[in-house]
Amino acid sequence: MTEREFEQLYGRKPYKKRVRYKIYWGRIFIAVIILVLIIYLIVKAVSGLISIIKNTGSSDSSSASAAAAVSQAQSEDRDSAKSSKTKKQESAAADKIADGALTVCIDAGHGGYDAGTTDMTGLRQEKADTLEAALKIKAELEKIGVTVVMTREDDTALEHSERCAAANDAKADMFVSIHRSSSDRDYQGVEVWVNNAKPEYDVMLAGNILSALREVGISEDRGVQFGYVGNSSVNYYVNADTVMPSCIVELGFLSSDLDNELFDEHIDEYAAAAARAIVKTAKETGLLDSSGKRTDPEQLISKEKEINGGSEDSSQADEQQGDENNGYGEQTDGEVYNTQENEAYDPSQDADYYTEDTLYY
Ligand SMILES: [Zn+2]
Repeated sequence: MTEREFEQLYGRKPYKKRVRYKIYWGRIFIAVIILVLIIYLIVKAVSGLISIIKNTGSSDSSSASAAAAVSQAQSEDRDSAKSSKTKKQESAAADKIADGALTVCIDAGHGGYDAGTTDMTGLRQEKADTLEAALKIKAELEKIGVTVVMTREDDTALEHSERCAAANDAKADMFVSIHRSSSDRDYQGVEVWVNNAKPEYDVMLAGNILSALREVGISEDRGVQFGYVGNSSVNYYVNADTVMPSCIVELGFLSSDLDNELFDEHIDEYAAAAARAIVKTAKETGLLDSSGKRTDPEQLISKEKEINGGSEDSSQADEQQGDENNGYGEQTDGEVYNTQENEAYDPSQDADYYTEDTLYY
């Protein structure tokens, strides 16, 4: 009915329906939050896209991710370093051996006029880092009861033959040479070099040292390596002319800021780790029993190494930087091992990894 008919019938105007709107504050609140979130995500996505577009074609994005990886590696290293500290304290007593039951020669690489390699500024020299590390390893070994022979304890220049003689004359059971490497490329990490004959005890020693250092925290594990950098058919002098198990520990790259930082931060722990690894090796070879007593009065000998070691002529490689032949050793017929015997040696990898003049030890 119309309004008029209603008025005639009821004598008044009809009540107008009042439309009430209920306001759902809760729903509005949630909607606003969702909207804000969506706007936030859109802004993020757009800014992300812009930065990707900006970095395309430039090296910024890769260096940024490399920096992120490095900082992650650093924090991981720090974490593992923290956990290893308690481990170190626990095992210190267990490592103690009978005094003088083991004789080890520690060789601080380079020295005197031979500074070794340097960092990018040229101010930080390998010879100083190797001496610092070697002296700390000596102190850690002596704490355990090991007799330590040092090739040098100050900034003195030494011939490779003198380093080997120091170990051979003292009838040392193991020889550990400390070095640091450097490269024009952004290499980083620790590697340990042994004779290319892959002598059992030498490989054991190198592996134990490397895994102990890895526990402390290193930027990269570059593995146990055989022979000579870029040429596995020749050996580093000190890995050829020492008669006992030997290895060269390359404690990170001086050309890597991260490696230098790790070296400075963890040098005490590295030294303790190396000392523990040396004693562990003595036990694994059976030279020491589990309680740290010597089982065999004879010097520990690296038998496989005798084949291409033990004389001046057979130490082909001079690992001094700036050698006449770009740091590569000469091959002597009949005394070198052919590369096919070294499964780990991959010449194509070497060509990529080690170009002449880019890596110094
Ligand atoms: Zn060196």
